[in-house]
Amino acid sequence: MIPAKGYAVPNATSVLGPFKFERREPGANDVLIEILYCGVCHSDIHQVRNEWGGSIYPMVPGHEIVGKVVKVGSDVTKFKTGDLAGVGCLVDSCRECTSCKQGYEQYCEVKFVGTYNSIGMDGKTPTYGGYSDKIVVDQSFVLKVSEKLSLDRVAPLLCAGITTYSPLREWKVGKGRRVAVLGLGGLGHMAVKFAASMGAEVTVLSTSANKEKDAKELGAHKFVVTKDENAVKAVKNYFDFIIDTVSAQHDLNMYLSLLRLDGTMILLGVPPEAPQVAAFNLIGKRRRLAGSLIGGIKETQEMLDYCAEHSIMSDVEVIPISEINNAYERMLKGDVHYRFVIDMKSLN
Ligand code: NAP
Ligand code: ZN
Ligand code: ZN
Repeated sequence: MIPAKGYAVPNATSVLGPFKFERREPGANDVLIEILYCGVCHSDIHQVRNEWGGSIYPMVPGHEIVGKVVKVGSDVTKFKTGDLAGVGCLVDSCRECTSCKQGYEQYCEVKFVGTYNSIGMDGKTPTYGGYSDKIVVDQSFVLKVSEKLSLDRVAPLLCAGITTYSPLREWKVGKGRRVAVLGLGGLGHMAVKFAASMGAEVTVLSTSANKEKDAKELGAHKFVVTKDENAVKAVKNYFDFIIDTVSAQHDLNMYLSLLRLDGTMILLGVPPEAPQVAAFNLIGKRRRLAGSLIGGIKETQEMLDYCAEHSIMSDVEVIPISEINNAYERMLKGDVHYRFVIDMKSLN
């Protein structure tokens, strides 16, 4: 075993603090990665605080990992020592079901193994995430990262990036389509960048009036403060798509009424409370309510390559790991511009 260190919580009510643990020795197909940066996703907060239930402790969160390969197993062909590498939300799946074979490991019919707060395919080994100095992952679940982009700004692509890229591709969002991005946080700001780069007309729907200038700089064409009733009224029956990235309870009915005939609202955010939907709000305009979960490994690589080609990166605030508990509090207030990223040098 290899000694590792990171930050963890021992239970749902504690704050994160230093934690020592072990990683497995790399097997024939494994890659050992020295973690340089790890993004901070709102899913980390939900899981640390057991807001979705079933959390496993101690928990080392983090699934937006970038770093350098420091060792490879004897059968590894995809990477060599010194390569840049990324790890997102998945580190394993059954690899044999129809979903896995189609490259949709996140929809594996058996189970997928999350990068943290999960149990490995052996049914017993808990996984620990990226708020740590190193990680060992099978090469099939490790992504190639371009040398062209700033590594700290690439980290959030591994979750916030792929989670927004995948539905935009699936629903073929592009020129001539009106897209609303609901919530301008980590996921939201990537949705704006991607949708704008794909040629769509992009509107940000936000509770924070002070994010307007940023929204426009990120590529949005319009900005609507959702607390302003008149501004909301002006976009009733307007959008083809709403990408909902909100992390807390909110009224879906109000937002559904902004979709035009046949419009689709895609849920990405996972508030702990189940939403209520009025049937008339859907049937009255043949509207659709859909959801999407991260993305498979093949599509994540496609997204990273798209970002390298179009110079798309996350807007980040780099923090030392000692600031992590404070960053969580700021995210809960919507005070995030637009992703916190931990500089893992600060662990030493
Ligand atoms: P984040 O950075 O904290 O951003 C969430 C944004 O939602 C906030 O900045 C805020 O934007 C808005 N918001 C917060 N509370 C609100 C409320 N009560 N009403 C309306 N808007 C509110 O979070 P994130 O990391 O982007 O994650 C967002 C959600 O997606 C989380 O629930 C996370 O677990 C989930 N997620 C899902 C997937 C997936 O595969 N589907 C993947 C990753 C994350 P404004 O200030 O603009 O209002
Ligand atoms: Zn995430
Ligand atoms: Zn499978």
